[in-house]
Amino acid sequence: MPPPRTILPNKYLDYFVIRPYEWHQNKIGYYHVSQIGSSHANLDPKKHSGPCLRDTFFIFIPIDKKIQSLLTTGNFEVGNIFHGHVEDIKKTNNPFHFPEFPLQRLMDRNGQKLIILGSIDLPRQKILTFKDNANKPIPIHITDLKTASEFTFPYDNSEDNQNPTHFDQVTIYGFWLMNYYLRRKYNRLVDLTVAYLNKHEAYTGEQVRKYNNEAAKVIFVDFIKRAFILDKKIRQFMKILKEYENKLLKVGPDKFTDEMRESYHIRLNNCLPDREPHHWCKYCDNRFRCRDNVVYDCDVRKYSIEEIEVFYKNETGKNAIWRGKHTKAFDSYSYGFKVEGDEL
Ligand code: SF4
Repeated sequence: MPPPRTILPNKYLDYFVIRPYEWHQNKIGYYHVSQIGSSHANLDPKKHSGPCLRDTFFIFIPIDKKIQSLLTTGNFEVGNIFHGHVEDIKKTNNPFHFPEFPLQRLMDRNGQKLIILGSIDLPRQKILTFKDNANKPIPIHITDLKTASEFTFPYDNSEDNQNPTHFDQVTIYGFWLMNYYLRRKYNRLVDLTVAYLNKHEAYTGEQVRKYNNEAAKVIFVDFIKRAFILDKKIRQFMKILKEYENKLLKVGPDKFTDEMRESYHIRLNNCLPDREPHHWCKYCDNRFRCRDNVVYDCDVRKYSIEEIEVFYKNETGKNAIWRGKHTKAFDSYSYGFKVEGDEL
């Protein structure tokens, strides 16, 4: 179902409340599980769907930040409304549901400190009956809610149709909960569920995996490692940027030569984390900078969605057809020119 094409101005801000405290504050040193994820070097880029550390890096540094469009903001809000609704219903039916269970931990590695954050949408304990064994740990289940479109809704529960990124996130939460918050002697995490809510029609499907603490540990450790790598790159970048700004002040803009500027740009570009190409690269806001391996560059190619639709129309003679949130034009013209084959 395509989004409505209308000329009515979006009155989102009049009808929805912006939360005063958001998880994703994008403060250096504070990293949310969904921003870091775990590596998928073994996966075909077409199957890997992020997060990409290079993309996350751009969120934390002061570049010409794009104000989030009302379309994207509205999309998130629809997800929040769905989440709140489902969590309320679940809590009403089972008092041992603990919606939005927050997680935080201060990590210190040789003096490098950072805080990791997360939130489990729906952890629940089994409601006990007299048939249960009093000496056995209480079974626990964790559910992560995802809003999906017709395009992203999974087909079935087979391994091939499970999104590794979504399961990584819920696996990290599971390991974190069982090893830092609860005692495994009294609680047993049985399985991990990713529940998909189709936002166009409230169709809801679940994918479930058994929990394995050893396998989860590998993913959790990788997540921590990635958080430290990203933190180091961002702090390095900010240090050079400060040096650059101080030097510019000291020397004065008139005497600051192109060579001097260039040498700082090279050092800043070197702070970029490696590319982690994946399924959604062509929709990534940073794809232009990423292809050129630059942070600041006035020549970096940039085109808006509307411009890309025009390229598409001029070259193919066809109108850009809506498919999910993006137009068909993105499949081949996401960089403003025809992308060949499987290039991302
Ligand atoms: S284009 Fe792909 S590899 Fe580059 S920053 Fe975006 S998601 Fe990462």
